Amino acid sequence: MNKQVDVVVIGAGAAGMMCAATAAKRGKRVVLIDHASKLAEKIRISGGGRCNFTNLQAGPANFLSDNPHFCKSALSRYTPQDFLALLQRYRVAWHEKHKGQLFCDNSAEDIIHVLKSECDAAKVQWCMPGTVGSVERLPEQGFLIRSSQGELVTESVVIATGGLSIPKIGATDFAHQIARQFQLKMVEPRPALVPLTFDAQSWAPFIPLAGISLEVDIATGDKKQKMQFREDLLFTHRGLSGPAVLQISSFWQPGAAIRINLLPEVDLAEELLAGKNNSKKNLANYLAQYLPARLADGLLQAHGFDGAAKLAEMQDKRLRLLGEKLNRWELIPSGSEGYKKAEVTRGGVDTRELSQQTMMVTKVPGLYFIGEAMDVTGWLGGYNFQWAWASGFAAGSAV
Ligand code: FAD
Repeated sequence: MNKQVDVVVIGAGAAGMMCAATAAKRGKRVVLIDHASKLAEKIRISGGGRCNFTNLQAGPANFLSDNPHFCKSALSRYTPQDFLALLQRYRVAWHEKHKGQLFCDNSAEDIIHVLKSECDAAKVQWCMPGTVGSVERLPEQGFLIRSSQGELVTESVVIATGGLSIPKIGATDFAHQIARQFQLKMVEPRPALVPLTFDAQSWAPFIPLAGISLEVDIATGDKKQKMQFREDLLFTHRGLSGPAVLQISSFWQPGAAIRINLLPEVDLAEELLAGKNNSKKNLANYLAQYLPARLADGLLQAHGFDGAAKLAEMQDKRLRLLGEKLNRWELIPSGSEGYKKAEVTRGGVDTRELSQQTMMVTKVPGLYFIGEAMDVTGWLGGYNFQWAWASGFAAGSAV
């Protein structure tokens, strides 16, 4: 026999739990289905285990989307302060780390506990682990959902199955399949907030630098579409990572260059030319005033400079070239580490198919998409969870 409910939410991650709890608090009969055996793994591993659950500065400018105004309404109706008020009720301790980023003092488990408790208090029915075989639109209104725990008839179905990143903890393309089934436009998905890689031959000279990290300016794009961040960069065996590269990866277009200023506060060519007249140091020792010695040595070697050369004996032209290499290092990534390492998926269901107030598909009444499944992608720094809360709340208030 069919079970009749008001709302079925598929995906019990950040957005799904927020949506289910919000709808159930309004008296809706809500079933929450997730195929994982462990709840909200992505929240658990986020922010190095402490979950960067929001950003105090979160605003529409911190999100990428082909339809940049779409996120405004939901973000303004569920703000970082709203989420903090929820955490306050559960006495979750948190701290600000960097640029408005808020983390749990103890563990990301605190966030999972809050969301699960909200769902339980509002009597959300769990179907977990549970799988969905099909979502069918009924002739009059509503949907028939065939799940591993039987058939559900519902007025509303909310797709909250996230993006494609980290398949080993349960990411699937379920949202994209549903989008195809209902003939919704998609914005081409691709890995974002992801380390960038370089072809093995060109990267070989930089491999000895793996593990070194420093604050840089990083940019990509031309004048009109230039994006720039000042964040930490990390050298890896296959390329570059760290917050600087994760941020820029979301804006980087395959084939385009990224530009890195390894010494954002120093005009190195000027310093080297001045040093030439009053320093007896060799190049490596001189550079070590500005950079960790291992990095200075490695960069000199990688760029074909002799660290033992006396600064005073070097040609101005070579010193200017070195300044250029370190202040305006331009390099073209060959690709990225892909979905297995990406924190998020850029692209997804085209938001022009959805209502910005409710997240409902305008041409399929009762069908909703929330969270990372759609084409709204936050910068690094707690913005993606804020989008999960805000879009989940918008749909949960509307279903
Ligand atoms: P998810 O949280 O991914 O939830 C989707 C749910 O759907 C999962 O529970 C999954 O099991 C379920 N599901 C998938 N397919 C199916 C299916 N076919 N049937 C049933 N269930 C299904 N963002 C931040 O803002 N701050 C951070 O600190 C941060 N750290 C991160 C660290 C890492 C390593 C990663 C990978 C991501 C991080 N993110 C962070 C991004 C953030 O985790 C996501 O943007 C956010 O979880 C998206 O929420 P969501 O509810 O849309 O999807």
